[in-house]
Amino acid sequence: MYICSPLQTVEHPLFAHHHVTVQIKRDDLIHPIISGNKWRKLKYNLTFAQQHNKKGILSFGGAYSNHIHALAFACKHNNLASKAIIRGEASYQNNATLSAAKSWGMELEFVDRATYRQRYDTEYLKYLQSQHENFYIVPEGGSNSLALQGVGEIITELAEQTEFDTLMVPVGSSGTLSGLIQADDNQHNILGIAVLKGGQYLEDSIGQLLDQESSGLKLKQKHTRWQLLTNFHRGGYAKFSREDEQRILDFSLQTKLPFEPVYSGKMILALLDLLEQGYFPIGHRILLVHTGGLQGLAGLNEQKRLKLAGWQVPSIF
Ligand SMILES: *Cc1c(COP(=O)(O)O)cnc(C)c1O
Repeated sequence: MYICSPLQTVEHPLFAHHHVTVQIKRDDLIHPIISGNKWRKLKYNLTFAQQHNKKGILSFGGAYSNHIHALAFACKHNNLASKAIIRGEASYQNNATLSAAKSWGMELEFVDRATYRQRYDTEYLKYLQSQHENFYIVPEGGSNSLALQGVGEIITELAEQTEFDTLMVPVGSSGTLSGLIQADDNQHNILGIAVLKGGQYLEDSIGQLLDQESSGLKLKQKHTRWQLLTNFHRGGYAKFSREDEQRILDFSLQTKLPFEPVYSGKMILALLDLLEQGYFPIGHRILLVHTGGLQGLAGLNEQKRLKLAGWQVPSIF
């Protein structure tokens, strides 16, 4: 399936006030279940698994992971088995995200934090591979070099759709940002907003992901127009204050665009703060990538972490 996601203009009084224009690439609209960057990152991994006659895909995630949710659905529809190593207690299996994943045939294995921390260790991966013969192992968040290729198609599509100065995207594991940096090839400013605390270490992950692709050329020599902002995490991964929640919801209602407070909402808060700080020059053309993840609202709602009325919680099965 090849889908070019739509591009829309975002209208908000602050944008006119600060003399900038804002457009949004609606990757959240790619598909009702596997949307956003998780689809982009899985696309060529699914092809790889099929071409190599793999039985299924094994991956890793937290109990509300957008990646796990997308992976389960995508595997089912590509006749692949799926298995996830989940950080946390087995009682999570009945939450919205994992119930959906189970309903699509995904097998779940719950591990404690110490075990989960080994998810990048060669020995642990070897062990998992020996236990799951002919499964293709994909890292947490789907972020590997095949993922970068899929994400790069955002840039190809944008080249046909519009012109812009700065692209903004939320950053978790950094696979998406790396794919954008690589495909853009220094044509635009690329601004990543880290959604977790202490995100400076992500610069190394980005370097590693890009190095795998760019035959050893040093990251900063090859790509000079990207930046990772690490001060907009709002207290840490999936953390947000009542005021943050209010600002995201207000922005959603004003622009009639859906956001959630873990990823896309933090990009919006960063955009609003940067505008107030006068970060963007007059006439600047900003391009937001909506990375999807709206299924996460179901889990937040279930945990009673959304305090305000007005959120549109999607049905995620
Ligand atoms: C996973 C995710 C991100 C972060 O993507 P990375 O490639 O892990 O940096 C951003 N937005 C949404 C909605 C996500 O689900």
